[in-house]
Amino acid sequence: MTVIEGSEYSIFMIEIYSEYPRTRAKAQETGAARYYTGIPCVAGHTGLRDTKRSYCLECHNARHRNWYSGNKDRVKVSSKEYREKDPDGLRNRKRKTVLARFDRDPVKVWAMHAATQIRDRSNKKNIPCSVVWQDLVAIHSVFCPIFGVELVYWNKSKKCGDSASIDRIVPELGYVPGNIVVISDRANSIKNNASAEELYRIADWLRPLEESCRTELLGKSDSV
Ligand SMILES: [Zn+2]
Repeated sequence: MTVIEGSEYSIFMIEIYSEYPRTRAKAQETGAARYYTGIPCVAGHTGLRDTKRSYCLECHNARHRNWYSGNKDRVKVSSKEYREKDPDGLRNRKRKTVLARFDRDPVKVWAMHAATQIRDRSNKKNIPCSVVWQDLVAIHSVFCPIFGVELVYWNKSKKCGDSASIDRIVPELGYVPGNIVVISDRANSIKNNASAEELYRIADWLRPLEESCRTELLGKSDSV
């Protein structure tokens, strides 16, 4: 792959990797584990490089995948042993890495994570999807527009009612710019794939029932 300096693609890549040092020397100086040169490797990847050993991460991952496919059983046994040896230690180390990353820029990390999830889900379910993480950063908000709660930009393992969640306004149009909003997870799970009309019907049906239940049951418990 040839990357023309100043082309749309190279600008996009530089933007993604803008936080990384541009040379290995600079990375060693600042103690960064990865750096980004923008110069293609022998296989043509222009992604990140490892500071300690200077290899291209994509090549390294490909080598690893290759090795893993031939050693699956071995890995299963040894990782099980590793987990059992010190379960809390592993959990804490993983947590620390995630926390540090979120600390730097929670919205960006959330957006990159969410964009990947959306893409995977859309591919599986055949939903149109053209949003990239930059779109998600652009439309994110501090508060849920429905419930007004402060949105939590966190990873999925820590999901709660206030977690930021991406909703398709008209579900069948898919994840395309203009059709997505960021709302709280609670609002999203209530809305699900309902239309405004359907939600009004549910509310209209529920309100009198809720009120009569309340007066009836509370009235009863008062008299007992
Ligand atoms: Zn490479």
